[in-house]
Amino acid sequence: MTQPTLPKTATFPSGAFQYRGGALHVEDVPLARIAASVGTPAYVYSTAELAANWHAYADAFADAPVDICYALKANSNLAVIRTLAGFGAGADVVSSGELERAMAAGIPASRCVFSGVGKSWSEMAFALKAGIHQINVESFPELEMLSAVAQELGVTAPIAIRVNPDVDAETHGKIATGRKEDKFGIDWAHAREAFARAKSLPGLNPVGVAVHIGSQLIKTSPFESAYRKLAGLVVQLREDGIDIRRIDVGGGLGVPYRPNDHLADHKAYAAVVRQTLGHLDCHITLEPGRSLVATAGLLLSTVNFVKEGLHRRFLVLDAAMNDLIRPSLYEAWHTILTVKEPDAGAGQVSMDVVGPVCESGDTFAKERQMPPVAAGDLVALMTAGAYGAVMASTYNSRPLVPEVLVQGSDWSVVRHRQGMAELLAMEAMPPWLDPSAG
Ligand SMILES: *Cc1c(COP(=O)(O)O)cnc(C)c1O
Repeated sequence: MTQPTLPKTATFPSGAFQYRGGALHVEDVPLARIAASVGTPAYVYSTAELAANWHAYADAFADAPVDICYALKANSNLAVIRTLAGFGAGADVVSSGELERAMAAGIPASRCVFSGVGKSWSEMAFALKAGIHQINVESFPELEMLSAVAQELGVTAPIAIRVNPDVDAETHGKIATGRKEDKFGIDWAHAREAFARAKSLPGLNPVGVAVHIGSQLIKTSPFESAYRKLAGLVVQLREDGIDIRRIDVGGGLGVPYRPNDHLADHKAYAAVVRQTLGHLDCHITLEPGRSLVATAGLLLSTVNFVKEGLHRRFLVLDAAMNDLIRPSLYEAWHTILTVKEPDAGAGQVSMDVVGPVCESGDTFAKERQMPPVAAGDLVALMTAGAYGAVMASTYNSRPLVPEVLVQGSDWSVVRHRQGMAELLAMEAMPPWLDPSAG
């Protein structure tokens, strides 16, 4: 593909998003065609970009193979999971619902790791019955409960203990998870005691250590600090008579949301993993979420109005915070492209890009420089493949939007647009408000 590329600022390794003949395409499909067929808002994902993101990991770790368990919570659409499974992905799940999704998409439980700070009895039982590869335990009470569940089922649970290495991932506060004040993992000071306890419990087989220090990390140094500490712990645990064979290094590699974002790349990350943990002869698992899917997705939206305020110009979209909450929740930046390629001399104007929801927080971008647009134009909020559709809600009775997967010149609706009837059908009147009852 030697098409003219997007502004070189936008970093999409596969080149899947390009203007051709004046119109933004995903691979060989014009976005306007998708909008005409399924309407907007809609999420659109690129298979080629998923593949490029997968290969960035696979290539970086080619000399010392690792297991890559895709963290489903970033984007748990069945077609996205199956695409990644086709490349060789296992899954990292954080609920029994996600485990069911992984299995429904074709990843057996024997290739899944179950993470999360608050698993219930029934979720543990479901995972053990399904034959889960590993459960990552995050607290002393969870050790006790999991052992009891395993005993009741007559099995032994293969576990890793997630430890909190007390390092600052230097990311947004809501997605930092490895500081001592965060709720995740067992405190560093209690790590050896936790393994000793696990070893003494009849239902558990402690085989691994796990960390996950946060998301959207932009450099490797926090990983390096965490993994160095972890390596020291593995040595200590072996001295304590616990046979650690697996290390789960978590996810967290960031993606370039903004033009000119400079991030650590996969090769630098792989070098850190190798240097800090390579000598321990352990089986290594990675749990990337965002970095596999973020750049592969966009949210396609129509401009409802251009509203001229006294001090600001507002671009009012048909997409809103209920469809993509990242800007409201994390002050996240999403590059916004017009689907029609801007004319060469079009220039830029400053706009606040907002949605129709009744919250001031329903703002995608403030004072964004964009080419002029008019009501009815299509725009694409880029890098929305991770923590986009999965975090959507029906706030303001806005039904869930469709998801579309593109591969070459093919495209397919992989989640239909929720209908109002479907939404209303979930609810019911109590008998005392229902004149037709009794
Ligand atoms: C969220 C999460 C991940 C994935 O994080 P990304 O930043 O999306 O790569 C991996 N492991 C665990 C335990 C998680 O909670």
